[in-house]
Amino acid sequence: MNKTTRRGYALIPVILAFLAGTVILIFQFAVHGAAWSSNRANAHLFKSGSLSTAGTIFDTTGKTLAKTVNGKRVFNNSRAVRKATLHVVGDPLGMISTGAHAAYKSKLSGYSFIDGIYSIQKYGRGNDLTLAVSADACAAAWNALGGYNGAVGVFNYKTGALLCSVSAPSFDVNDPPSDPNKLDGVYLNRLFSGVYTPGSTMKIVTALCALENIPDIESRTFTCTGRMQVGGGEVVCMGTHGEIGFQKALNKSCNCAFAQIAQLLGPEKLMATAQSLGFNLPIKTDGIQLAISSFDVRRADALGLSWAGVGQYDTLVNPCHMMMIAGAIAAGGQGVQPYVIRSMQSPSGVTIYKAMTRNSQIVIPAANAQKLRQMLRTNVTEQYGDSRFPNLQMCGKTGTAELDGKTSHSWFVGFSMRDDLPLAVVVVAENAGSGAGVAMNTANAVMQSLLYNKIR
Ligand SMILES: [Zn+2]
Repeated sequence: MNKTTRRGYALIPVILAFLAGTVILIFQFAVHGAAWSSNRANAHLFKSGSLSTAGTIFDTTGKTLAKTVNGKRVFNNSRAVRKATLHVVGDPLGMISTGAHAAYKSKLSGYSFIDGIYSIQKYGRGNDLTLAVSADACAAAWNALGGYNGAVGVFNYKTGALLCSVSAPSFDVNDPPSDPNKLDGVYLNRLFSGVYTPGSTMKIVTALCALENIPDIESRTFTCTGRMQVGGGEVVCMGTHGEIGFQKALNKSCNCAFAQIAQLLGPEKLMATAQSLGFNLPIKTDGIQLAISSFDVRRADALGLSWAGVGQYDTLVNPCHMMMIAGAIAAGGQGVQPYVIRSMQSPSGVTIYKAMTRNSQIVIPAANAQKLRQMLRTNVTEQYGDSRFPNLQMCGKTGTAELDGKTSHSWFVGFSMRDDLPLAVVVVAENAGSGAGVAMNTANAVMQSLLYNKIR
């Protein structure tokens, strides 16, 4: 072996180390490149800490929600729209982590793994995003909430388009409060990141579990005397319903009947159904992680299990998740994921991304989805009244989530049965009292806006 060859062998470990380093660097770049390039320190994208060269953000009808003018972000000219869309559009500093300005920063900036920030250097600006939301529908929902904190969501349960995403409290991005932290969790989009006691909206889950596990549930009757002794305590009903069947028990939201149903089912079956609907599981929607809904009755005693069956106990539900469950029922069993971005256009005007319909992990056997659809329809026709939802053919369930020492949260979750209006809606109004009040009125207001403006 001559000297040269020996030297060559000696170099092999060095070459291998170099290659390994290159592989790691490429990997790191692929994983973190988007974040590095849109880091606030990068002067190409940010000016004085603000996202200054991002593309325009449109609503689904082409209304401008945010754009860059002379290096500054300029927002929609209606104050109501600015407040209603704050959480879905986001703020220029990216404090609202699920808003488009933060969650889709690399898309807006035009970053791509292949050519880095090339499009910024060539065109001076990033990609444009068209969101699925309607500015008008968001404003209608915002106004109907009437100052209550909470969340409103509407999505197309066939395509997944998220047409309304509103969270309150909010602020006007043009006139931010001096100390936003004083506003109760103002940077949180409660639709994606909030969890609430579900109250009677949870009876949808208990009802599904009953359909799955009690063959003669539809012909059974239960007795409600207004209160029921369980273990060492009691379950209280809002009324005294006497002998009551399964469907009527849902229509009247009878706590005594649903507590008895929960006891018939037991903890394992209730947890299995909840899990099949996405409880205790991470759910992502368009890259945004929803707060996990939790349902755990493994250690519940008989009283705890009874309260869990009517949506009290320590169950917590994310509003967007609840909307997705309603959507799966409406769609006949297979749920779809809501999407935030409808399309993306490059600076040269080419559509480089279009939303696709994706199934969610929520699946309900078709026969039971159909039965639940009918039952939720009778809630409106028999109990709330179609006059509360003109022309909508609504199905749904209210919830009045009781809280220790505070006014209840007002919930409504439902969907339209109209073939030309495949929309599901969720509303939570914090400490607003009965679900038949603010939540139901807000659900109607946002659905009417979408119906009137023919937005799907
Ligand atoms: Zn009752």
